[in-house]
Amino acid sequence: MHEFTYVAPSSVEEIVQFLAQHREKARPFCGGTDILVQMRSGVRRPSYLLDVKTAPETRLFEFDPAKGLRIGAAVPCADVSADPAVRRYYPGLAEAANLIGSVQIRNRASLGGNLANASPAADTVPALIALGAKAVLRSVQGQREVPVEGFVTAPGRTILNADEVITEFVIPPPQRGGADAYLRFVPRNEMDIAVAGVGVFVKMEGQRCVEARIVLGAVGPTQIVASEAMAYLRGRTLNEGVVSHAAELAAQAASPIDDVRGTREFRRHLVAVLTRRSLLAAAKRAQANQS
Ligand SMILES: Cc1cc2nc3c(=O)[nH]c(=O)nc-3n(C[C@H](O)[C@H](O)[C@H](O)COP(=O)(O)OP(=O)(O)OC[C@H]3O[C@@H](n4cnc5c(N)ncnc54)[C@H](O)[C@@H]3O)c2cc1C
Repeated sequence: MHEFTYVAPSSVEEIVQFLAQHREKARPFCGGTDILVQMRSGVRRPSYLLDVKTAPETRLFEFDPAKGLRIGAAVPCADVSADPAVRRYYPGLAEAANLIGSVQIRNRASLGGNLANASPAADTVPALIALGAKAVLRSVQGQREVPVEGFVTAPGRTILNADEVITEFVIPPPQRGGADAYLRFVPRNEMDIAVAGVGVFVKMEGQRCVEARIVLGAVGPTQIVASEAMAYLRGRTLNEGVVSHAAELAAQAASPIDDVRGTREFRRHLVAVLTRRSLLAAAKRAQANQS
């Protein structure tokens, strides 16, 4: 690996000052599970690696039933998936965070890194989009809060400027009758990336779905919001036929590639299966959340 300088800032202010000075020469990192692999293979050659997690603001973890969830960008996925409030109120996010790599990887890997790495197969991104999460970005110019939806613009590309850092994620409060779920398919039990992944959120009134969000991963250059399937579900009773039709609409929204890990047809089929299963799982949870 090339030589670089490791920097351990003690605040977000220090991070943004450093980024403003060194811009593309510096790279913020959290767990290092993506960037170190990329540096070893020569794909990235930053002069400075800026350790985001040494700034305490990026380790924040707060839940308030009225305000929602705030998770620091550097909080390890193992902590996210083990947190009682996340498991109770955002089980789909817990499921996604719990699928990343292995125990060792999850103790390093963060939500910030998963999003900023901008892989179409990133597991927590569809789950965050389904929940309507926003990312908080800081630079010396100030702070902006942007939806996770639309953050990734192409594989490896995002809306993040060279002088910006993700400090935290803000997730809306849990809704009565609402729940999420995340499912993916991999050929192995773990240590593999998704061939397809689906994150959903549904809000139920009795058997009727009043709101639905369906987000597909690994079946397009970026995460795909299956808007037609979402519109179809709104106002309908979630029976087997309706859920299966929504799953077919979601499969049509996918734009997968053929590669060694799966053909286009297989990935579309997976989207239908995963959408159907995740909708049924989320609907069951949502119904239990109605009282
Ligand atoms: C063995 C193995 C298995 C894996 N399995 C999975 C899997 O199943 N599912 C999955 O989705 N991923 C998987 N990954 C990929 C990786 O672990 C995840 O993407 C992880 O969430 C990255 O988080 P990190 O904190 O380690 O990122 P880092 O490596 O620290 O950073 C990744 C990228 O994001 C940028 N970045 C990091 N933090 C910030 C920030 N706060 N602000 C701005 N930019 C930032 C970095 O500059 C870098 O470009 C795996 C990786 C390995 C090595």
